[in-house]
Amino acid sequence: MNPHHDALFIGGRWVTPASGERITVLGASTEEILGSVPAGTEKDMDAAVAAARAAFDDPDGWAHWEPARRAEALHRLADALERRVKDITHLVSAQNGMTIGLSEQVEGALPGVLLRYYADLVRDEPGESVRDGMLGAPVHVRREPLGVVAAIVPWNAPQLLSATKYAPGLAAGCTFVLKPSPETVLDSVLFAEAVEEAGLPPGVVNVVPAGREAGAYLVSHPDVDKVAFTGSTAAGRRIAATCGALLRPVTLELGGKSAAVILDDVDLATAMSEPFVRATLLANGQACFASTRILAPRSRYDEVVDAVASLVGGLTVGDPLDPTTQVGPMASARQRDRVEGYIEKGRSEGARLVVGGTRPSLEKGYYVTPTVFADVDNTQVIAREEIFGPVLAVIPYTDEDDAVRLANDSEYGLGGTVWTDDDERALRVARRMHTGTVGLNHYTVDPAAPFGGVKASGLGREFGPEAVFNYQQVKSIYR
Ligand code: NAD
Repeated sequence: MNPHHDALFIGGRWVTPASGERITVLGASTEEILGSVPAGTEKDMDAAVAAARAAFDDPDGWAHWEPARRAEALHRLADALERRVKDITHLVSAQNGMTIGLSEQVEGALPGVLLRYYADLVRDEPGESVRDGMLGAPVHVRREPLGVVAAIVPWNAPQLLSATKYAPGLAAGCTFVLKPSPETVLDSVLFAEAVEEAGLPPGVVNVVPAGREAGAYLVSHPDVDKVAFTGSTAAGRRIAATCGALLRPVTLELGGKSAAVILDDVDLATAMSEPFVRATLLANGQACFASTRILAPRSRYDEVVDAVASLVGGLTVGDPLDPTTQVGPMASARQRDRVEGYIEKGRSEGARLVVGGTRPSLEKGYYVTPTVFADVDNTQVIAREEIFGPVLAVIPYTDEDDAVRLANDSEYGLGGTVWTDDDERALRVARRMHTGTVGLNHYTVDPAAPFGGVKASGLGREFGPEAVFNYQQVKSIYR
């Protein structure tokens, strides 16, 4: 596999980029060059949007195919991706530090699962229904594809977060310009190769790796009909402002600062195991929904702090490509420095460091030792801002109402978990949480159910049948 690429996938062909600028990716655990791609510019975005526009506007094209024909093509794309799964999962782990086992599940398997799910969902979808109007005449209600989609994704799960957009969007009949994040561009080349191999019509999917300026240009491009974004809340606000001025539909999957509510009946010996690690520290803490605020009952506070510290302190930190590793490095030096800045902030604000807070003794790589702070007040910076690294804050609460109040006292509202032996109590607390998703005694996103955030965590939902609506326009025809 050649790690250096010279062309961009636009209009179904590998074309020479408009400029000689390049994006070079360093390995998260090696700090060495892994590969490089051309850096897309405004001119490349123009070409990609023109190709997507032409593909969408073709009267015999993708948008007008029978859903069953599109479904066949999406199954072929799933097949082509699955043939590349080993290379894709290795590349993602090498680039962003995600442990290889997780990469196999999330970056390897899930895109194919989503493609097949949405292909089958729309296969027999009539797209148009007739209902009795209230004025004595029938009304045709049609769902039509929205058009050209600009899909902009971050580096923490690049393949999955692309698939959460193109799988329902392509199934609906939209065409795409995908802009991956500079930290993880190498795997996007493999995705483009899979699109080519699957024989999707030219221009239906275009891939232009680029930085944020070219991304902002894409968002405001006059020929884009819809923006689908996953990334930070700060960038999401800017994108939403552009889309607001243009009245352009947008879905935003943004940051989080979710709470793990540990109820006072919990059996800590059972709760403090692999599902808790996944819920709080998935992807080395670089997961938007991670429950990083641990809310612990005062009556059992010390016990909870000890149990969390012993679990987190016992995790194996190391090479993400080694299957025994539980926590890999941060994706970049910048991200490592940012996380360390928050650890320093936690210390200076008077939180008690119980485990971690240092760099592990590994020669290379952007590592941060998994860290737990106790005696954290919910008003402190480490309890309010998204750290996006392996740093947990244990916050005491007095009773169930106080736990719910603290869980909801956040700018964000993406995920959350409840830990208890009492199912009914778990559901009761989950229903009171102001957040888009909640997990009971675990947190695993189920692709069949809508996923997304409230408040500063975003607008709209991905996954589930609901995601197709993001890519459709509804039209009523009054007879
Ligand atoms: P980021 O916002 O810096 O970048 C995300 C993507 O947007 C990149 O491709 C970047 O080049 C592009 N971008 C940045 N500013 C832009 C602009 N003004 N216009 C157009 N494109 C722009 O985020 P990041 O640091 O790459 O990713 C981490 C963030 O993503 C975290 O905040 C995390 O919570 C969030 N995230 C959210 C979800 C979710 O589903 N809610 C999932 C994963 C990550």
